[in-house]
Amino acid sequence: MSEAHCNKLPQRKALGLVTHDNTGGPFVVECQGCGEVYPSFHCLGGEQIADTGDHEDARCPHCDQIDPEECDNAALAWNIQQLKINELQRRLNAADQRIDELTAQQAESRVITLSGCEFTEHDLLHTAVRMVTGTSRRGTLRWVAMKDAFCCGSGVAHALCWRFGFDPDETVKP
Ligand SMILES: [Zn+2]
Repeated sequence: MSEAHCNKLPQRKALGLVTHDNTGGPFVVECQGCGEVYPSFHCLGGEQIADTGDHEDARCPHCDQIDPEECDNAALAWNIQQLKINELQRRLNAADQRIDELTAQQAESRVITLSGCEFTEHDLLHTAVRMVTGTSRRGTLRWVAMKDAFCCGSGVAHALCWRFGFDPDETVKP
């Protein structure tokens, strides 16, 4: 039995799981209004109305449908989660690749000594790139600020941004 079979309610809640054993509580919604599939605790409303036993209607957070229905299509619910996993996997791979690139760049970077302190050229360059700001109070595109600071062309300016993980098209201010 896996954690998914857990029948301790607080633990189930902490893990963001829905009820799988007919004990009541959150369920998987397939909204009849917009078709979105999500756990019922994402619904809006549903609060108890003060001093009455009644609850206000639950509403779909995507389309405001009143009382969105329970999903009885297990395969659809699975596929929705699988697509999220695929997307996370893609982002994880991209992040791993980025870490590998940065690690490799750092490893091949020369160490220089300044006033008795050792720096890699990578670290010095990184600091310089990070500290570049615009001169206009309205903001400057990062790659343009980089071009001015390093007296380089736009291609090198973009490459400097990418190498150190900055967005060349974001705005920097003084
Ligand atoms: Zn909806």
